[in-house]
Amino acid sequence: MTMRCDQCRTKIRGEGHRTATRILCSRCNEQFEGQAAGLIAGGGIANAISTSGWYQRVLDRTRGRKRHD
Ligand SMILES: [Zn+2]
Repeated sequence: MTMRCDQCRTKIRGEGHRTATRILCSRCNEQFEGQAAGLIAGGGIANAISTSGWYQRVLDRTRGRKRHD
């Protein structure tokens, strides 16, 4: 039985790289690991954005209250 990369369909020599759901060739595995690292970094950025969004709402509310007073 020949294993093939689930992403690029290249025949895998040797063991291949098993992820949670797929088997990848070493090239795709490197890409996958890069994306995983990117997702972690992206999550950090998303958190930063939502935090700044929350801060913006607080500012708006503060301004609104001042206007009504
Ligand atoms: Zn591949």
